[in-house]
Amino acid sequence: MSFSTLGLSQPILDAVTDAGYTSPSPIQAQAIPAVLKGRDIMAAAQTGTGKTAAFALPIIELLSTGPAAKSNQIRSLVLTPTRELAAQVHENFRAYSVNHRLRCEVVFGGVKINPQMMRLRGGADVVVATPGRLLDLYNQNAIRFDRLEILVLDEADRMLDMGFIHDIKRILKLLPPERQNLLFSATFSTEIRQLAKGLVNDPVEISVTPPNSTVKAVKQWLCPVDKKQKSPLLRDLIAQNRWDQVLVFSRTKHGANKLAKYLDESGIKAVPIHGNKSQGARTRALADFKQGKVQVLVATDIAARGLDIDQLPYVVNFDLPNVPEDYVHRIGRTGRAGATGEAVSLVCADEIKQLQDIERLIKKLIPREYVDGYEPVHELPESRSPMTPAKKPKKPKKPKTSTPTSHSTGAGSGNSRSEPRQQTGLGTPSTDRARGDKVQGGRRAGGSLEGGNLKEGPADNTARKTQRPRRRHRKPKLS
Ligand code: AMP
Repeated sequence: MSFSTLGLSQPILDAVTDAGYTSPSPIQAQAIPAVLKGRDIMAAAQTGTGKTAAFALPIIELLSTGPAAKSNQIRSLVLTPTRELAAQVHENFRAYSVNHRLRCEVVFGGVKINPQMMRLRGGADVVVATPGRLLDLYNQNAIRFDRLEILVLDEADRMLDMGFIHDIKRILKLLPPERQNLLFSATFSTEIRQLAKGLVNDPVEISVTPPNSTVKAVKQWLCPVDKKQKSPLLRDLIAQNRWDQVLVFSRTKHGANKLAKYLDESGIKAVPIHGNKSQGARTRALADFKQGKVQVLVATDIAARGLDIDQLPYVVNFDLPNVPEDYVHRIGRTGRAGATGEAVSLVCADEIKQLQDIERLIKKLIPREYVDGYEPVHELPESRSPMTPAKKPKKPKKPKTSTPTSHSTGAGSGNSRSEPRQQTGLGTPSTDRARGDKVQGGRRAGGSLEGGNLKEGPADNTARKTQRPRRRHRKPKLS
């Protein structure tokens, strides 16, 4: 299929060609004609699917006719959860509208408000905004919505996760009722559907990836390790496997800072990126990472959400996310656009609940590999079948009579349900005893992980369970 069949005019087609796109992505092929017809849209699409162009191109087309915006008025509004995403969406609008006389502006918090107020004085055709700053601007009479034609909620699920629901509701009340609404979300939870009810009118529903399915081209595996050993393990994995461009996820800002410092001091150029960093620092960090000046970006989920990094080879979950959907978002950063990627999670015994929630969501067990020298003293309990429903909230505790709980397993404490181990040597090639696969420098060179299709996960797991003799592990002395 070609872009020229979608109903876009020549100036936009030229801009698309300049951007280097030869054919529309599935979301673009479905969304562009519908938006051009004036329909509302509800689209389930993750970052990396080309969703931004799916709404930006037809919006530019629609706005290329009609009266220009008057002072402080805006014709279309794109709400995004983060500053980074706002900046990227704005950049895309500018690139796609090079052949038009449209005014595109971006506003977000964390920077001075006055220059933004000045830029809005003459009105704008497109404003990309984060919710909080948009409301501040409205309250200072710097922006008006009387002539708004189109509203886009981008990454709506993330906006709800980040607690923007009240701001969004406030904003919706300020908008004229007659408008076109485009809702984009990676997942369609009950909350999103609830929000959509009061927002979109007879929408065209589009889904380009099955909700909550992980990208097939991603090799996923996890490494059971004690919490304290995570940093040295990560250092060794990166150094000895020569991972050149790694996005590491940390649950907290403090953790991101600490880990980036540790890696940096170990000779691996790493930079943290999170909400406490200034916009300038974040933009610089991202640019350096993209250019290869920085090898590792340590990001929190929120900061990473808007990062536009294509075909990232390695994603590491230094901590598992508390919200299982975040795992899907995180590993969606790799293996994009058909390229293969590797997503590694360093998991300690305390994280078994998060792990099980993730495995239940993606309906697969994530294969485990142990790294020589980093076998955990506190064993990571075996995952339950991902098809087993989540446990109900606990009733008041009764005195325990049976075997130790999964969280309290220590070295050799005998979690009889534990999986067979995949042993991975760091640096020195070794043989995977359980499967006969060669592993080199900490990475599997063959076996079911190749291609990352984990479809065989559960069956494979069961097979290993029967093979594995229970082993005791002593914590190795670290040099
Ligand atoms: P998005 O999902 O909007 O974040 O887009 C992800 C990446 O895909 C961006 O770097 C876009 O520039 C790129 N992209 C968008 N549409 C296309 C297309 N039709 N062909 C190739 N790349 C595209």
